[in-house]
Amino acid sequence: AKESGRNKIRVFSKKMLERVLKMSRLEHELQAARKNNQFFLVYQPIFETGTEKLSGMEALCRWQHPKHGLLYPKEFIPIAEESGDIIDLGLWVLREACSTMAAWHKNFPELSELIISVNISAVQFRMASLVDQVSTILEETQLQPDKLNLEITESTIMENAESALFMLKRLKTLGIRLSIDDFGTGYSSLSYLRQFPVTSLKVDKSFTADMLEEENSLEIIKAMLALANAMKLEVIVEGVEQSHQLKELERIQCKYVQGFHLARPLSLEKAEDLLAKTHTC
Ligand code: C2E
Ligand code: CA
Ligand code: CA
Ligand code: CA
Repeated sequence: AKESGRNKIRVFSKKMLERVLKMSRLEHELQAARKNNQFFLVYQPIFETGTEKLSGMEALCRWQHPKHGLLYPKEFIPIAEESGDIIDLGLWVLREACSTMAAWHKNFPELSELIISVNISAVQFRMASLVDQVSTILEETQLQPDKLNLEITESTIMENAESALFMLKRLKTLGIRLSIDDFGTGYSSLSYLRQFPVTSLKVDKSFTADMLEEENSLEIIKAMLALANAMKLEVIVEGVEQSHQLKELERIQCKYVQGFHLARPLSLEKAEDLLAKTHTC
């Protein structure tokens, strides 16, 4: 028993060591990557149904890695969250997204109502300093506060609804917009939902994916629309990949949509091409 106990400890330690080594390697790369400007943002349009008006852009982070090529958030955000690097990276994303939108408002005066959406990690959301950081960035970039939308996932919020409520209320005092992202996957308590000072719900793309095949998914989307209507919240349905999905969403009076069928996440250059086109028509 003594022997196997010792073996267990050795196996555990070896795994731990490997994990720590891998983490520290990636963590080290993350820090260097920030300094070497390997991160960049892409922008996915959000449209109003019916009018087909461009209403906003969601900033999404990418890592151009010198060896591994283009990396997507699922490959580096969890590591950055575990190492704490997400704090710096998240601040960079926020500053970059806000200053880009402020510049767009200047260069395309007719599009001054465009909103920039930024994803906030659970780790950032737990830091009391987030409110001051957002406030500072709004001042630095001169972006109108009501043109910034922060997206926080439902599961992040429901992890600790009481402290989330406190944080959301503090963020709201800045005059910004707040979205519950991946809505429908995180078991919101309706009594809390009523109290959250949020502007909109983003229906998770898993419901959109099978809404035409699964009667249940369509019914859930309809229920979320009804719920949002009753609470005077806006709804954005994400993950719209097919024209038939868009048609059905228009039929059930969903107001905002996002997805590959409408537009993929765009490079800065492509995003500005779209703005220039929107601007002149
Ligand atoms: P999310 O916030 O739910 O963003 C939507 C994701 O779905 C994006 O993936 C987007 O490219 C993708 N998408 C958009 N339209 C469609 C569609 O029609 N079909 C499908 N299948 N997918 C679509 P991406 O860029 O890989 O980001 C994945 C997740 O990583 C995001 O999910 C968000 O949670 C996180 N993320 C991205 N950028 C940031 C960031 O700057 N900070 C933080 N904290 N998280 C980020
Ligand atoms: Ca999002
Ligand atoms: Ca989402
Ligand atoms: Ca997601």
